[in-house]
Amino acid sequence: MQISTKQNIEIYNSLSGKKEQFKPITDGYVGMYVCGPTVYSNVHLGNVRTFMSFDMIFRYLLHLGYKVRYVRNITDAGHLENDADVGEDKITKKARLEAIEPMEIVQRYTVDFHNVLNTFNFLPPSIEPTATGHIIEQIDLIQTIIDNGFGYEVNGSVYFDVHKYNQTNDYGILSKRKLEDLIHNTRELDGQSDKKNPQDFALWKKAEPTHIMRWPSPWSDGFPGWHLECTAMSTKYLGEYFDIHGGGMDLKFPHHECEIAQNKAAKGKDPVKYWMHANMLELNGARMSKSTGNYINPAELLSGQNDIMSKAYSPSVVRFFMMQASYRSVLDLTDNGLLASEKGFHKLLDAVNALDTLPTSSTSTFNVSEWKQKCYDAMNDDFNTPILIATLFEAVKYINQIKDESATITKADLEVLKNTINSFVFDILGLKNVSKDEKGTDKLSGAMDILMKLRQEAKANKDFAMSDKIRDELAAVGIQLKDGREGTTFSTN
Ligand code: AMP
Ligand code: ZN
Repeated sequence: MQISTKQNIEIYNSLSGKKEQFKPITDGYVGMYVCGPTVYSNVHLGNVRTFMSFDMIFRYLLHLGYKVRYVRNITDAGHLENDADVGEDKITKKARLEAIEPMEIVQRYTVDFHNVLNTFNFLPPSIEPTATGHIIEQIDLIQTIIDNGFGYEVNGSVYFDVHKYNQTNDYGILSKRKLEDLIHNTRELDGQSDKKNPQDFALWKKAEPTHIMRWPSPWSDGFPGWHLECTAMSTKYLGEYFDIHGGGMDLKFPHHECEIAQNKAAKGKDPVKYWMHANMLELNGARMSKSTGNYINPAELLSGQNDIMSKAYSPSVVRFFMMQASYRSVLDLTDNGLLASEKGFHKLLDAVNALDTLPTSSTSTFNVSEWKQKCYDAMNDDFNTPILIATLFEAVKYINQIKDESATITKADLEVLKNTINSFVFDILGLKNVSKDEKGTDKLSGAMDILMKLRQEAKANKDFAMSDKIRDELAAVGIQLKDGREGTTFSTN
């Protein structure tokens, strides 16, 4: 496919704090790196949202005809508790608690991650490298940083000398922090005394005798620092300077700041042309996070087995809900929001599914080519999916008017309308036309709502024989009811 040169994308670059015209380093090609998950537990919906934002961006660039190399890593070593330089490796800790091999943990949660992303209709990235598969590249990179005078070894561990780096560079350029402020705000923690300064970060850590995941290096048997892997892998697959680097907002500091510092220290170059940060998904008004326990897993949302939502939602409804917000806005996951999205999504699909049977006429009462460009304009404006969806609904209105014969469309315009809607709804937003299964789930939910209401009424009337009968007979056909704080939910396994 030819690149649609008409489409001038503007991207909000976190580095400059401005929207900038997107001009890939090499015409027609895009290199994009996104920090992947640390595979020590099931992904939550917050993680899914960040990866979905970049899936949508990947899809749009592909749609325009760019050759995209999309690299999204798997962090399977080196990420310590609290994102710190001391403490236990997140994966090793889980392995210790379950008395199994760290690589069993890695395998289990990598599989879960892929299953979840498949469920939400993600495209696979072009390359999915692992930290443990790139130890040699990381050791080489550390050696270069040491040779260039920005890394130092103490007791078998190697640290990045932030103060030295900041003399000739700007540590804090991405996160808009100043080293002086960081110095005032950092507390010296026990065990960090090896470092020249508390702001320095680990490039290589000597492994304690109990640390299972370890590799030989010139400095010690140990393991690489978390920030280092992304620099090593992005350089290997995308070069020393590439187009887009993405991740969640929470990774800006220190993770991405350290990536910039490592690259500049090793290669003397800024690694990335456009830094993109996806905003957080919230639950109950607070950031969704494993560590605070404020999260919901995809399986819980899709099965309805949770105490937060009134019913189960299909993956495309959840995707539509997420796409209704800009990737740069905070989004609160609520039952009401999902209910509204479900309605909207079905309205959109009903219109899409009516396209094949629309009557045509000799005139169009709606400017289809103008509308088509409006769809592109929305996406060109920093991938503004909520505006895109609002624009798609202009077409929904038009389609419904044609259906009830208050508007007309020519055959040629209908073709354009069909192709454009299909491209944006399915290829770019990544939504799926409701399959029989999903429709079945929605119908089942509707029927279950009625039964659960009847049971509630029976209970209110003290007709416990009836309420138990409803519960037991549902159980007999494989549907379990669960009474929770927020009401009753059901599951089908
Ligand atoms: P982790 O596995 O913790 O490194 O996280 C994987 C990705 O999910 C990172 O890009 C995080 O920024 C992102 N992430 C974590 N929590 C949230 C959240 N509540 N909303 C959106 N993205 C998140
Ligand atoms: Zn990273």
